Amino acid sequence: MLVTDGIHMFEGVKGAHIYLVTGAHLFLVDTGLPGQEHRICNYLSAIGIKPSALEGIVLTNYDVDHVGSVVAMQKLAKCPIYAHALEIPYVLGQQDRLGIKRWLPLVTQPLYGKLIAPRDLRPLVGGEFFGDWEIIHTPGHTPGHITLYRNGIAIVGDLFQGGEICLAPSYFTWNVAKLKESAQIVIERPLRWILPGHGPATPASSHWLNKLQKSLRSRS
Ligand SMILES: [Zn+2]
Repeated sequence: MLVTDGIHMFEGVKGAHIYLVTGAHLFLVDTGLPGQEHRICNYLSAIGIKPSALEGIVLTNYDVDHVGSVVAMQKLAKCPIYAHALEIPYVLGQQDRLGIKRWLPLVTQPLYGKLIAPRDLRPLVGGEFFGDWEIIHTPGHTPGHITLYRNGIAIVGDLFQGGEICLAPSYFTWNVAKLKESAQIVIERPLRWILPGHGPATPASSHWLNKLQKSLRSRS
């Protein structure tokens, strides 16, 4: 489904939303749970894009619902994978997840097996541009969480939930204080669309912006 400005959201995929960004750069943001590659490829084919045309896959954070199909998609696309430098040790399995997420493999491995690390993993640091998208380091949900921003559109991963916009749930948040700081940074930008990992793509409106501002103030 085309959402806005050449950005597509894949329908019917399991896990977090996957976005296809077209324009100066053709790339995916996140890949859903394991096993979503056929749905991704079916949609790409329906809009006339071959997986091999993808120039990269950007990961907003290393949760299984975002990175599950990254290895399968990389095999098809033969493209590099981009993640924040602080997230890469988790992607490579070199570091235990923090907090409650340390125990997630007990739940996810029986379902999906052990996640394999992708190859050709390239670090982002925040502040740079990926094509014409600004990479904003938005730690909180995880240490190396990122948001992509271009011309009023923010692809926010697990920074906000869509619909009635709110912060990602605190029980799965590595650092709530940093999450609030990151949220503040993003909502200070001119915004037209919030494209979240969970919940519907949401046009910006003063209603939810005010509500989120108020909740950030009351929590701080
Ligand atoms: Zn998620």
